[in-house]
Amino acid sequence: MILEPTKTETLLEKLIAFPTLSRESNLDLIDFIADYLLSQNVVATRVFSEDGKQANLHAIIGPADIPGVMLSGHTDVVPVAGQDWTSDPFAMRVEGDKLTGRGSADMKGFIASVLAAVPDMAKADLKRPIHLAFSYDEEVGCIGVRRLIDMLQDVTPKPAFCIIGEPTGMRVATAHKGKVSGEIICSGKAGHSSLPAEGVNAIYLAGEMLGALRELQTEIIETTIPDEDYLTPYSSVHAGVIKGGVALNVIPDECRIAFEIRQRPEDDPEKLLDRLREKAAYIVDQWDHPDAGIEVKIATNYPAFSTPLDHEAVRFVTGLTGDNDLRKLDFGTEAGLFQRDLGVSGVVCGPGDIAQAHKADEFVTREQLGKCDRFMEKLIAALS
Ligand SMILES: [Zn+2]
Repeated sequence: MILEPTKTETLLEKLIAFPTLSRESNLDLIDFIADYLLSQNVVATRVFSEDGKQANLHAIIGPADIPGVMLSGHTDVVPVAGQDWTSDPFAMRVEGDKLTGRGSADMKGFIASVLAAVPDMAKADLKRPIHLAFSYDEEVGCIGVRRLIDMLQDVTPKPAFCIIGEPTGMRVATAHKGKVSGEIICSGKAGHSSLPAEGVNAIYLAGEMLGALRELQTEIIETTIPDEDYLTPYSSVHAGVIKGGVALNVIPDECRIAFEIRQRPEDDPEKLLDRLREKAAYIVDQWDHPDAGIEVKIATNYPAFSTPLDHEAVRFVTGLTGDNDLRKLDFGTEAGLFQRDLGVSGVVCGPGDIAQAHKADEFVTREQLGKCDRFMEKLIAALS
C-alpha cells in the first residue's frame, strides 16, 4: 500500500526540484517560499548576496516584540557531479519509507516540515514568536548566513534561542566542531628533471607538509583529553586534495594541498594553525634555498559552538523531543556564528541522518519527517 504523501512530503518534492547548488542562484526557491508564506499572510524579508543572485530569507510569525525561537536551515545543496545516482537527483523518488533526492536529508526535509507547519503557526495564538531563517551557501563555509546575521543585529528583541535543523535523527545536539580550511602552497624552483640540484622540488616540500599535518594530528591526540560524545573524540586534521607538477621531466615549482582542521569548542584553531606554520617554517629552513617556500593560506572558517546544558534551548527542545540523550556533532552548522556573532545560542535537531548527506541517492525516511512534523506541532503548542 502506498501512503498518501503528507504536506511535508509534497513540499519536499517541490524544494528538491530547485537545483540550489551552492554558489548558484537560489532565488527561484526563495521566491517559492516567500510566495507560500505570503499565502499564509506571513511577510518574508530577503537578504541578498552582494551580487544579488542569492538570498537569505527571514520571517517572524507571532508577536515580534517578544524574544522567540528561530528555526534555521540552509537552502543550498552539495554537487551531484561525478556521483552515481540511480535516478534524477532533483526529482524526488518515493520507495517504501525512503524519499530520495539531493537535499532530502541535508536539509530540505527540515525546511519542508517547517513550511508545512506554517499555516498552523499562523493560525495559533502564539505567545512567543517563531523566526524562520533560511540561508544560502552554508555548504561552502556558512557564507550566506553571515549577511543574515548582519541584518538580524538590527532586529530587536533578538530570538531567545535557535534550532538548527541539520540531520541529527531528531536527537538534540548541544555542541559541534568548528572548521578552518584552506590551502598549503608549497613553492620551489622549476628545472629539467635530469638536474635535480638546480631546482627545488615543490612536490617534495608538499610531501613533508603532509607529514607535518599527520604529526599535528598525532600531537592533538596525545595532548588533549578525548571527548567521546563526538564520533571523532578530538579535533581532526585532514588533507583532501593535492595538486602539483606539469610533466615528469620537469622539476615542479608549485604544489598545493587543500586541508582542514575541525576543532572542538575547547580547542583554539589559531593555536593549531600556529603549530602548523611552525612546522612549515622548520621544513623551509631545512631546505635552505631562497626559492623554497610554504604558505598556509586560510580560505574559510566558522566557529565551533557549545550551549550549556542548563540553557533554555536545551531544556525547551529536549522537552519537545522527550529525548535526554544529548550529543555533540563532528560537522558544523551556522549555530557557531549565531552564538558568537549574534549572541543567540541554540541546539541542532533535525530529521534524517548525516551519513546520507552529500552522497549519491541521498534520502530521508518518511518516519523521520513524521517525527519532525510532530516536533513542529509540539513547538507550536509550547509557544501558544
Ligand atoms: Zn547541511
